[in-house]
Amino acid sequence: MANPKKFPEQSQSQPGDQHQMRPQPTVIRENYMGSGKLKGKVALITGGDSGIGRSVAVHFAREGADVTIVYLNEDKDAQDTQAMIGEEGRKCIILSGDLKKEKFCRSAVQQCVDKLGGLNIVVNNAAMQFPQDKFTDISSEQLEITFQTNIYSYFHITKYALEHLKENDTVINTSSITAYRGQEVLVDYSSTKGAIVGFTRALSKVLAKQNIRVNGVAPGPIWTPLIPSSFDEVSKFGQHTPMGRAGQPSEVAPAYVFLASEDSSYMTGQFIHINGGEIIGG
Ligand code: NAD
Ligand code: MG
Repeated sequence: MANPKKFPEQSQSQPGDQHQMRPQPTVIRENYMGSGKLKGKVALITGGDSGIGRSVAVHFAREGADVTIVYLNEDKDAQDTQAMIGEEGRKCIILSGDLKKEKFCRSAVQQCVDKLGGLNIVVNNAAMQFPQDKFTDISSEQLEITFQTNIYSYFHITKYALEHLKENDTVINTSSITAYRGQEVLVDYSSTKGAIVGFTRALSKVLAKQNIRVNGVAPGPIWTPLIPSSFDEVSKFGQHTPMGRAGQPSEVAPAYVFLASEDSSYMTGQFIHINGGEIIGG
């Protein structure tokens, strides 16, 4: 994978813009062959404008799905993703709005169903993180923003999506390695990512008899706009992993294809760990 030894220092505010990143993240491998695994399906992906979400959107499109992407305000990134999905010959609806608001979550699901004719795959993936060197500097306002964005939105989107999901449909939640091993400057964020693990496991039991599967992905360090927009230094990003480098979104998204497709038909309540080789439980 094309990864620099060191990333150039760069700084942005959240949410970051993918089009401003150096180097550009890899969205999809040139040799990734679609084989109709998601033919005729409709997916909704939160945070689908950029990073992991964009990569998932483009892989889903190459596998035959139409996609709704929901994002905060990064219009250019969203339009770029929409164009990439167009190049795959699939439809893409882009919806800008604040997922912290339950009403917007409801309307995003409804617009997806109205415009694309249904909903089969929900990817809960939007998040923010605000590193604090001191745990006691996490304000109650920051705590609320982090929880509302990173876990409340997963509840709300899923609740409204369940009015439309049927047998063989799937929910996929993005957690993080921080849920499993903790991260000292991201205590609030790590807590939301742990909540996502519990949410996934519990909901998978609720929906198992209906054959709606609920799984997740727990990425390690991946080169996305979240990184230069939230960390002051990025040059050594990912070097602490056993593989000694950060991952690209293109190395994460195929796991979402697996979890969304029939290939994972006997799997629910589980996480796939894509983190450059760190062994973590569960
Ligand atoms: P990203 O910035 O590309 O994606 C996050 C997206 O969330 C943004 O595009 C933004 O539009 C959306 N978002 C944030 N707040 C929102 C709000 N209030 N309303 C609507 N949309 C909102 O970064 P990414 O790294 O691809 O993040 C995707 C997921 O991956 C997140 O859940 C993140 O926690 C997780 N993750 C990332 C890494 C990493 O190293 N990049 C590691 C572990 C987990
Ligand atoms: Mg973005």
